[in-house]
Amino acid sequence: MFKSAALRLTIGYLAIIMALSIGCSVALYYVSSNELAQSAQRPVDLYNVVFGPNNTSDINDLRLRQLEKDRSSLKINLLLFNIGVLVIGGGVSYILARRTLAPIEEALEMQKRFTGDASHELRTPLTAMQAEIEVALRSPELTKKEAINLLESNLEEVGKLKNLSEGLLALATTIGNDGTKTKEEMPVRQLVEAAINQASKPAAAKRIKLSGNITDAQIAGNPQQLTNLLVILLDNAIKYSPTGSHVNVDAKIRDKQVVIDVIDRGRGIAAADLPHIFERFYRADSSRTKNQTHGYGLGLAIAKKIVDLHHGSINAKSTPSKGSTFTVILPRVN
Ligand code: ADP
Repeated sequence: MFKSAALRLTIGYLAIIMALSIGCSVALYYVSSNELAQSAQRPVDLYNVVFGPNNTSDINDLRLRQLEKDRSSLKINLLLFNIGVLVIGGGVSYILARRTLAPIEEALEMQKRFTGDASHELRTPLTAMQAEIEVALRSPELTKKEAINLLESNLEEVGKLKNLSEGLLALATTIGNDGTKTKEEMPVRQLVEAAINQASKPAAAKRIKLSGNITDAQIAGNPQQLTNLLVILLDNAIKYSPTGSHVNVDAKIRDKQVVIDVIDRGRGIAAADLPHIFERFYRADSSRTKNQTHGYGLGLAIAKKIVDLHHGSINAKSTPSKGSTFTVILPRVN
């Protein structure tokens, strides 16, 4: 599909180049041939003045033949020039066409991968539900207890589907909407406190202590998105930490930036997984369990997108079995 699009675009670019080149050549030909005609005329006038008008017919013929010769060599030169433009312009047009299409091709490829990943993730709980329902329907004497078990299991899968669709929606909204257009200045303290507040419920459920150590600094951005970013990091810290542990958020100033660390003492991330955790649908192997508390590998992809939109950076350091530190760096408002 992209090959034929590149070809069509090449032809389009080439047509524009050739139209310009041929147009200029035709204009140049008429201007130059007029100039030649005038300069061929001038010496004849001069002869007329010096030798009288009767001896000029031979000279006139000679000048006219010379004029025709000059005109045809001008034509040949312009033709050769246009053939050169056609060859070089063809190459340049093809390169330009490929360059124009490259970002579209990349975006389409990403969308294809995303749709494939999303449908795979959607299919997994649906297949589990379908299999359970089919087995139950085939059973001639389904007891009430078995029916309740089936419904409970189905409900769990429906919960997963709901979480997944919410994650997909959050990702699509973040990607499609550049929230930084509604930019506001805010103290980083306000952001961290809002995020800690939102994460307090799951933390309490695991008796995890949440604390903040925040320097006063101003940052600019979309408050909703920036709070979501910290909530994602806090939710993960809670999710992957043992009951009764401690998660803290440190925010400090470094030069013209604000550095926010979310530190947990949880299970950590293996070195092999670390480079991939910000990819969509990536989960470290041990998270790929059927446990409902684990997500779909969308949280950190959303976090990364939010940080990118705010011209910041995010990275993670981790020691397996000891804990992880996620660091967000955002530009500071002076
Ligand atoms: P998920 O919804 O699966 O948590 P994320 O995109 O938020 O997806 O995280 C991707 C993966 O990174 C997780 O599956 C998990 O393996 C790992 N991870 C993220 N945060 C932490 C953390 N604080 N501690 C340990 N592992 C983490």
